[in-house]
Amino acid sequence: MIRFALTCDAGHGFESWFRDNASFDGQVAGGLVECPVCGSVKIGKAIMAPHVARTDRTGRIKAAETAVDPAPKRALAPAAATGSQDITNQPLTDKALRDLVRAWRQHVLETTDPVGDRFADEALKMHHGEIEHRPIHGSATIEDARMLIEEGVGFQPLPILPDDRN
Ligand SMILES: [Zn+2]
Repeated sequence: MIRFALTCDAGHGFESWFRDNASFDGQVAGGLVECPVCGSVKIGKAIMAPHVARTDRTGRIKAAETAVDPAPKRALAPAAATGSQDITNQPLTDKALRDLVRAWRQHVLETTDPVGDRFADEALKMHHGEIEHRPIHGSATIEDARMLIEEGVGFQPLPILPDDRN
């Protein structure tokens, strides 16, 4: 048996068990699967939640690298502004872990040179020996990050905590 997350043509989400994929296809084609909300038999498989989580993580990685820029606050604003109780917007870590991560991040910020959006530039110059190596932090676009990885430049995104406000 497999469980599918389904939606009807009116966008109602529900779940149902099927013996296998073929059984699902057959029952849907035969109009045997009904939306429990509106009774529609136009049913399709829903996009699964993990994809949403992955998108969110990508967004946070991007935001995370802009450690000293206002961008992370903007990135986090929607969830805070709507006061959403959606579980996908909730921090997954408990307070102790958050404190640990915050302390580590604070340490990184205090012991490295802020270079803002010149991060990729500076990192690349150091990598090529054009300027002296020093610890830095700043912002990079996903494209920059990809380029740095391709160039073999080591870097690491700083975590942004959902309850950071300053
Ligand atoms: Zn429906």
